[in-house]
Amino acid sequence: MNEFELIERFFARPPRAASVRLGVGDDAALLVPTPGCELAASVDMLVGGRHFLADTDPEKLGRKTLAVNLSDMAAMGATPKWALLAVALPDNDSAWLASFARGLYAVADEHGVELVGGDTTQGPLNLCVTILGEVPAGQALTRAGARAGDDIYVSGTLGDAALALAATAGRTSLATAVAATCRERLDNPTPRVALGAALRGIASAAIDVSDGLTGDLGHILERSGVGATIELAAIPRSEALAAKLAGSDRALALRCLLAGGDDYELCFTAPPSARERIATIARTCALPLARIGVIGGGAGLVVRDERGEPLSALPQAYDHFAAASR
Ligand code: ADP
Ligand code: MG
Repeated sequence: MNEFELIERFFARPPRAASVRLGVGDDAALLVPTPGCELAASVDMLVGGRHFLADTDPEKLGRKTLAVNLSDMAAMGATPKWALLAVALPDNDSAWLASFARGLYAVADEHGVELVGGDTTQGPLNLCVTILGEVPAGQALTRAGARAGDDIYVSGTLGDAALALAATAGRTSLATAVAATCRERLDNPTPRVALGAALRGIASAAIDVSDGLTGDLGHILERSGVGATIELAAIPRSEALAAKLAGSDRALALRCLLAGGDDYELCFTAPPSARERIATIARTCALPLARIGVIGGGAGLVVRDERGEPLSALPQAYDHFAAASR
């Protein structure tokens, strides 16, 4: 199977949406944008051994490769529409490719996204998706709109993906069933696309939690020129993480909750006047939305522990170059 046979066999499914005039097979795809919308464009790279473990199930990897990009669209309040896939593959293992493509197309179909092109080379496993989405002009959610007095929310629960990683690395132990649930959060994240779209015109700022809450919320604070106070007790967590937090692994659990990446929940801000509408959105999306704190005027982030005392040192979010810049 040469390069072109590989593309033809695994990545050339004919587009179903009228928004694709020309998909895979030519020098470029031809896309039909919706009048009155702005394009949201984003790219994410997943590197083998760094973003995923070598033994990751290829179907889940296919899902995750696209899901993390959809999460960026969700954070913008954009509707994802078109994806391009650049891959470096160590070899042309058709069983692996079939599973990977199945996972990728499954997530694409769940969200009405079309794979319209890409690039394929031989090399160390590297998966890179460019996603294009649409948002009604002027309505995108950005990191820059948080104002003093706004509430801060987080969807779902945080920390389980990092807990799974810690368990895999032998830094903590989890019961088998719990380990499986957490590992599912790590390997198969659910992008909060419907939530992002529902928050248009309501949220003042939004970001997806991919690198950890304190770091990602920190980006909102920096971009918005505000500070914040959040309550540790209000940060939504699974029973497994809550148990770790109450036990001897508290420090690790704190890191997972505050600075664990890979959860792909949304963190957003909104004025108190929006509380009822946000409660309705939580019901419509069947997704808990927890109010974890408030935006304040001063700079920086304060996290108050269960007794209301500020945490003295905040765990740091993941940074690929943190070691190099020290
Ligand atoms: P070019 O030489 O013009 O870059 P390629 O031979 O790389 O074209 O790709 C041929 C066609 O297949 C193009 O339409 C490209 O977008 C598409 N393509 C290549 N690799 C992938 C992939 N992994 N997934 C989806 N489409 C791909
Ligand atoms: Mg090419």
